[in-house]
Amino acid sequence: MFGLNPQYSYQTLPELFFSNAFPDKVISPSLVLFNESLSSSLGLNFNAVSSQEKALLFSGNKLPESLIPIAQAYSGHQFGYFTNLGDGRAHLICEHLTSNGQLVDIQLKGSGKTPYSRRGDGRAALGPMLREYIISEAMHALNIPTTRSLAIVLSGEMVYREKALPGAILTRIATSHLRVGTFEYAATLDDISARKKLLQYAILRHYPNILHNSNTSQTSNIPAIDFLNAVMQNQIDLIVHWMRVGFIHGVMNTDNMTISGETIDYGPCAFIDDYEPNAVFSSIDSQGRYAFSNQASVGVWNLARLAESLLPLIHNDQNYAINLAMDILNQFTPLYQNKWLKMMGQKIGFEDIHLENKPLIDSLLAWMATYQADYTNTFLFLKDFIERYEQLNSHVLKDEELIQLLGKEYFIPINPELILWLNDWTHSLAKHAFSFPRAKLLMQKVNPTLIPRNHQLQNVLSHADLGNYAPLHLLLKALQSPYEKIKPEFQAFKNPPTAEEKIYQTF
Ligand code: AMP
Ligand code: MG
Ligand code: MG
Repeated sequence: MFGLNPQYSYQTLPELFFSNAFPDKVISPSLVLFNESLSSSLGLNFNAVSSQEKALLFSGNKLPESLIPIAQAYSGHQFGYFTNLGDGRAHLICEHLTSNGQLVDIQLKGSGKTPYSRRGDGRAALGPMLREYIISEAMHALNIPTTRSLAIVLSGEMVYREKALPGAILTRIATSHLRVGTFEYAATLDDISARKKLLQYAILRHYPNILHNSNTSQTSNIPAIDFLNAVMQNQIDLIVHWMRVGFIHGVMNTDNMTISGETIDYGPCAFIDDYEPNAVFSSIDSQGRYAFSNQASVGVWNLARLAESLLPLIHNDQNYAINLAMDILNQFTPLYQNKWLKMMGQKIGFEDIHLENKPLIDSLLAWMATYQADYTNTFLFLKDFIERYEQLNSHVLKDEELIQLLGKEYFIPINPELILWLNDWTHSLAKHAFSFPRAKLLMQKVNPTLIPRNHQLQNVLSHADLGNYAPLHLLLKALQSPYEKIKPEFQAFKNPPTAEEKIYQTF
């Protein structure tokens, strides 16, 4: 059946962790998007399935009868405050085991109320679901761990937010939906064996090496500690990726932080245009808790919540357990800073970390912040600059016309401070980098040429709300190869917003 190999490993956990729940039927489902390449990479086969049949499937209206959908229980700290949550508008249809042994969740989002809905209609509007589809697929193309998007179906019903909007259902694929909040939920249960089972399950599913490596020097021999460490390493890598491409998650509540290290829950997220460390696009984040430059601090705060929920599984002596957990968490900041520095060094062409990199990076970022330079385009400008620098035997710095022209191409303001910086940078590169062509190659690998910009997304979503999907398909295509030279038909996507086009909130 469609190449589907249904599994229910999560349902082997105690029943406290889920509720059986079926998607609510919708009036008139129609298919908007289906991700062929994801489908085939999962070994699924919908070639012979019509759009109408896909719409019935991916709305939840007509699921294969043998499937046993559930809603998952979890808790979370939202803006610092603990709450019990759970899937309030999503159904885990089943897990799917691919032929290469990869286990993934297939989840419908916007598929109706569940026992965890409390308030809310269990539904989703087309705009936010399309945003999740576009941005998650862009993240994947950028080589950043993320949940994926398989399909979007219009429900044929309206959902009521500030106004009436077309309703839609997203099919989300994830290596699991285990969250920090799943462990916080387990910690609320007066049942230590349930918590132990969750830990065992999460280790088996995501970090099986912890079991194989026991009794080696790389591990602590305490699975809960090795697990905390493994989740932390993945989160550090993930946040460094976000900082690399200018991504703000926007709602880093603990229920939106995965155990796998995948980016999840694309709500009020955004890619920054001009560089602003305090940038926030969420309409409810008035304190800037989830601001661009705050993401690492929030990451370690969230991991401390994970650690708390693991304490009784670490050691019977709780003081000792706290010390062990702190030893892990205390490594977060130095590890993150080191990886961030290395990544930023690569963005300006240095393969390894040099002490010189730090002031160069700091002064570049300060310059970008002062002159509201576009984050993505600044690095593309630099890459093109060293290409000319090499071609012209370093005379480019004296050729004002050429620099102005290059700045125009990428919307970069050329001023004396930048010229000074370019001078310092090229000298430092000449001293440390192997060669300019290699620096350029490195920069090409880490600096995206295209990102989903807010104003372009907004334009696509507005058209989609009116039933015009042509701009959507064009944007999706443009975002498929974000490290390649921009093709002529996609050139407009590199343009930052004009003052009128600028979007300040992505909700
Ligand atoms: P989020 O802010 O997207 O992480 O969602 C937080 C919680 O609110 C989750 O438990 C969601 O399932 C729930 N939720 C969000 N939107 C709705 C909705 N329209 N109806 C019911 N529950 C919702
Ligand atoms: Mg969420
Ligand atoms: Mg959400």
